[in-house]
Amino acid sequence: MAALSEAPSAVQAVIELVLPDLQVPTPVDLVVRWEPDGETVWISEPGDTGWAGFYAGDTCGTDLVVGFADWLQEQVFAEAGGAWGEARPGCPGHPHPTAAREFQGAGWWVCPRDMKRIAKIGDFAALLRPAQA
Ligand SMILES: [Zn+2]
Repeated sequence: MAALSEAPSAVQAVIELVLPDLQVPTPVDLVVRWEPDGETVWISEPGDTGWAGFYAGDTCGTDLVVGFADWLQEQVFAEAGGAWGEARPGCPGHPHPTAAREFQGAGWWVCPRDMKRIAKIGDFAALLRPAQA
């Protein structure tokens, strides 16, 4: 496995966009690697022997954003010791997590119950931050 800096810039950009949305309320320490031959992103917690892999080869654009967001949520954060049992990103006013969906060509976190759009993927963490004075 190679450093993430070896990954295509489009893949790096998607990781930088999506990952912060799941790093609230408290950040989880994660190791992110890139496997060039398999075009796969691998993520683990430091000291953990298990890795979760996301194949990025066939997808791009909004499909990549939504696919990666959904995978991060289901395969990484749902299993991570640092986020155990937490709904990430949490749906405001509900106990469940939001769901990653495409809407009019953009990736959104939506309420899975009423499909209300909560925030664009990449904007969720900023939603929780207090406005700068
Ligand atoms: Zn909801």
